[in-house]
Order: sequence, then structure tokens, then C-alpha cells
Amino acid sequence: TNEFPHPRTFDQPARLRNVLYEIRGPVAEQAARMEAEGHRILKLNIGNPASFGFDAPDVIVRDMIASLPFSQGYSDSRGILPARRAIFTRYETVEGFPEFDIDDVYLGNGVSELITITMQALLEVGDEVLIPAPDYPLWTAMTTLPGGVPVHYLCDEENGWNPDLADIEAKITPRTKAIVVINPNNPTGAVYSREVLQGIVDLARKHGLLILADEIYDRILYDDAEHTSIAALAPDLLCITYNGLSKTYRVAGYRAGWMVITGPKEHASGFLEGLTLLASTRLCPNVPAQHAIQVALGGYQSIEELIRPGGRLLEQRDTAWNMLNSIDGVSCVKPSGALYAFPKLDPEVHEIHDDEKLVLDLLLSEKILLVHGRGFNWPTPDHLRIVFLPWARDLQEAIERFGNFLSTYRQ
Ligand code: PLP
Repeated sequence: TNEFPHPRTFDQPARLRNVLYEIRGPVAEQAARMEAEGHRILKLNIGNPASFGFDAPDVIVRDMIASLPFSQGYSDSRGILPARRAIFTRYETVEGFPEFDIDDVYLGNGVSELITITMQALLEVGDEVLIPAPDYPLWTAMTTLPGGVPVHYLCDEENGWNPDLADIEAKITPRTKAIVVINPNNPTGAVYSREVLQGIVDLARKHGLLILADEIYDRILYDDAEHTSIAALAPDLLCITYNGLSKTYRVAGYRAGWMVITGPKEHASGFLEGLTLLASTRLCPNVPAQHAIQVALGGYQSIEELIRPGGRLLEQRDTAWNMLNSIDGVSCVKPSGALYAFPKLDPEVHEIHDDEKLVLDLLLSEKILLVHGRGFNWPTPDHLRIVFLPWARDLQEAIERFGNFLSTYRQ
């Protein structure tokens, strides 16, 4: 007799039910179907520089290729030494960054993998993590997956999208273990002031919180924006800083990221042992991409050409920001860093009840793909995220069409 129901069903486990990643969600899947039918879709949904002609510096590609014959085996679980040394040297140039050891550097298949293993190693079921709203949604998803509880603190649009310290403090409970700080921010493009970062550090110190600092855009800054690494303000606190090659060096497909652990560790040995264990169970990160890290960090920093006056990214940021603000009932805080704008649709002018439906309708009508604000855990259906990686003329056309579409759109 067959003891299993036939045919056997494979349902989604309950713990996955609230794990969301809308950037590649149902609307993006609809866009892929339309592309398969032959439509040309302008994809302003993913921060993937290479797909908009932002080529990586040649030396990085050449080093990756040259390393292939010598990268056939697994590496050390933390990553190869030359890459970790290059990361070590990089942080020597970051003002005030606390001292650390080579073994405090872990490489990953992108920051994404390191976020995933950090949360798996850190959280007991029911533990809370403070995460910004809006957020880069992987943080929320990977808090939820091991049974943690994401608690979203508000970033204040009226204050350049800086985190609201009073809201953070109000949301701290005895179960709060960590606070996630994404600076420069995805999706708002905010670069946080030193004062606000100091305020977060003070709260983390008072309540014994681990600081998780996602700084993957720390070298993508516009105008006179200055980036402060939060670890530099918290040498006495346990802090993990995440970064990688995906954005600044435009090799998102190589999957090369790192994290650096700073501050006292004695009180966190269980967590850190877990982290090392999970780093070993994934064996090691992609080895050829690890070889690209040293040359990327040590070579000419070509991102600077793109962000200074006359640079392509700066021009696109300006175009996107100006065009968005020219639409009736749309306002947008000027992004000071990263690759995104997060405009607001004034509810008095545009009554949107379902922002996901709005982006789907925009896709069907205009073949333009954006991501709705609630996909970034923003609480109300009145924001969208636009990636400003396309050429200025394409952005101009897309945002013009978006404005025309909005002017007659009703829900
Ligand atoms: N963190 C932030 C804030 C991001 O925007 C992204 C990618 O968009 C990541 C992490 C993931 O980066 P990686 O390619 O290193 O996995």
C-alpha cells in the first residue's frame, strides 16, 4: 500500500509565505512574458548597471578571465587572502573605521548571500530586527525566513529621507537584536547625515543592538554628498559592514561581495561561530570573482568619472529628478547617492489605492517597468521606485510617458 497521497503535493512551506522580493515579482514576470511575445520593455526595475551599457573596468574582466585556470578548486570558506587583504587596505582609507583582523573579513556570492547567512546565524524565532521603511527588501525577506520579525522604522521624506530616530526608539523592545542601516539608501538615494548616524549609534549602544550596515553604494555619491561609515562612529559596538563589486565596479553578475566585522566580539561568540559555520557550509564564494576583488579595489576608481560633473550617472540622476518633479502631483527628493529615485504621488492629485496595480497598468499600457513602493515595505500606496541607469534620453522619454499616463489614470 502507498502511504503517501497520490499524486504527492509539494506545498510552499509556511515559513516562506511572507518572504517577498517584489523587484523580481509578478509584475516583472508579466514584463518577461511580454518580452517573450516580442515587446520592447524599458526596465527601470533592477539596479543592474551592465544591462544599461555601464561596462566594468577592463582590468577587472581581464583578471577574472586570467584567473580561471587557477580557480578550479574551492577556496578558504572566508575567501582568498589577497582579496581579503585588499578589503582590509580599503578600509584603512575610510576615516575612523575601527581596526579589525583579516579573519573578520568574509567574502560572499554578493552581499545577498552574506545577508542571508547573517540572519540565519543571528535570529531565534520571534527575534526582532529594525529595518528601514522603505527598505531594500532582501533585508526584510531574510529576517522573515528564519522566523525573525522585521520591524520597520520610518525614514522621513520631509527630512531628506533620513531615519526618524524617535520612531526607531519607540520600536525597540526586549526582543530587538539588530538594526539595519542602508546608507546610501536603496530605494530613496538618501545619504545619511553624521548626526542621524550618531543618533542611531547612541540607540544601539543604549539597547545593546547589533548594527548591520549595508554600504554597497558608498562610492556612488552626487554633488557634495559625503558618506560616513556607521562603524566609524561605533568602534565600541559590534557592527557588520557589507559591500561588494556589483554596483561601484558594475560586475553584479560576478557575485562578489564582502562583510567586515568590527567592534567587541566576546559577547557574540555563539553568533560569530554560527556565521563561520554557515560560511563553511556554502564551501566558498565563486572563486574567479574573488580574484577580481584585488584589482578592482587597487585599480583606477572609474566610478568617479561617472558621478562627477559631466558624468553619465550624474546626468541621469538630474534628468530623472527634474523630469519627475515636472509631473503634476509628483514630487521627488533629490537622490544624493545610489542609482534610484523614490518619487511620491500626491494622494490629493492621484488617488492610488493599489500601487502594484498602478505599475502593472503602466507596464501594459506604456511598456515601462517600475517597482511599486510597497515592494520596499513602504506602508502606503503612494510611492514608486525608478532606476536611473538608462541613458538620459531614454529616461526622459520614459518619464514623459509615465507623466502622460498618470494624467488620465484613475483607480
Ligand atoms: N544591498 C543593497 C542595498 C542593494 O541595493 C543590493 C542590490 O541591489 C544588494 C544589497 C545586493 O547586492 P549583491 O549584488 O552584492 O548581492
